[in-house]
Amino acid sequence: MIKGIKGVKDLLPEETPRWRFIEETARRWADRYGFHEIRIPIFEVTTLFARSIGASTDIVEKEMYTFQDRDGTSLTLRPEGTAGTVRAYIEHNRGAVPVPQKYSYFGPMFRHERPQAGRLRQFHQFGVESLGMADPRADVEVIALLWRFLSDLGLQGLTLEINNLGYIGDRETYRPHLVTYLRQHQSGLCGNCQRRIDTNPLRVLDCKVLECRTITEGAPRLADSLSDKARDYFTGVLQGLDLIQIPYLLNHRLVRGLDYYNLTTFEVTATNLGAQNAVGAGGRYDGLVETLSGPPTPAVGFAVGLERIAMLLADSAIRTSGDKAVIYVAAFGEQGSLAGLSALENLRVSGISAVSDFRSSTLKAHLRQADRLGCGFSLIIGDDEVIKGTGILRNMVSKSQYDLPLAALSTAIQPLLNIS
Ligand code: ATP
Ligand code: MG
Repeated sequence: MIKGIKGVKDLLPEETPRWRFIEETARRWADRYGFHEIRIPIFEVTTLFARSIGASTDIVEKEMYTFQDRDGTSLTLRPEGTAGTVRAYIEHNRGAVPVPQKYSYFGPMFRHERPQAGRLRQFHQFGVESLGMADPRADVEVIALLWRFLSDLGLQGLTLEINNLGYIGDRETYRPHLVTYLRQHQSGLCGNCQRRIDTNPLRVLDCKVLECRTITEGAPRLADSLSDKARDYFTGVLQGLDLIQIPYLLNHRLVRGLDYYNLTTFEVTATNLGAQNAVGAGGRYDGLVETLSGPPTPAVGFAVGLERIAMLLADSAIRTSGDKAVIYVAAFGEQGSLAGLSALENLRVSGISAVSDFRSSTLKAHLRQADRLGCGFSLIIGDDEVIKGTGILRNMVSKSQYDLPLAALSTAIQPLLNIS
């Protein structure tokens, strides 16, 4: 037997209504905030991710699925959606369009991580990117969309955490202070963080290892190295969130794993997700478009993990839009089977969902399948019914039955479907 790949999951039909509900809710909120869907490729040249996400990040250092194309070009399965979206923005010269470019996307992402609950190698994200506006209201808009979407799903125990990373220059001022402090405490840090002192010292701040956290509690704070401009910007974001009543917590450790962020960074966590508690995260990335050789373009966005949302979503919260009546066609006998095939087609073409099990050849077997499939009604058509030209519509709950003319089936059936 050939099995699926570790950390790469199938979503069986029992689970997809949950996913569709989440995706429909996300689409509705993205529409309301004026974000338009973009569909970008699942693989890109490797340099796109290496250059945008940053060489010394977890993703680029050890999580990418990279392979050689037949001509030797290095390609990578996308580990996230921002790099591809920005590449498309530049390639199609979207900066020349005189309205804000606000995109949303859905789709699978690929990272070579240790699979566990809420951490997969193929996982799915919903994300948005708002390009072109260097205004705290653009940050607020993106954060509000994320918060309203998650709240609408009824997810419990959510917290929005937010931090100010300042401008690149602010981080350059801060970096030597932090590095000096970390060197003094080097021996107490985990191996990973000892290495990060040289490569990516800010990441030490959000290490989960207790010893590292204890040491960084006493470290100099980025907040103390921020320029007035960066402070003012962030104050604008917090005032906006207060105004529209989005609750948040300040978290000075929130530095995020990707190099391209500046100013606002944020993350939504859930108390009942265990170790993998991040539902979604994002921030401002004013330098990225330029890093990828595009025109200077301020931008802000987020991405949420759909697997983690699916884990948090209560069964009772799921409202499916496909709640229409499903009719089971119980056709048997030589003539009845053919009339049943016509009836199925008539119903479907006139907009009514209809199913059957072609293996069943007796009425009893058919009705059992109708119950198993949860159909509210069965349409019974045996050879006798064909001779009379009428099918029998049976309400599977009340067991009441009605005769219907097979020649005008869909018109005759409509009013009866509302009787329960
Ligand atoms: P984590 O700290 O959990 O590794 P991250 O910082 O790597 O998350 P981002 O790159 O910000 O995550 O991606 C945004 C969201 O995508 C995360 O908050 C999470 O919900 C989801 N996500 C990230 N990696 C995975 C994964 N391997 N499996 C499932 N979901 C994931
Ligand atoms: Mg990660």
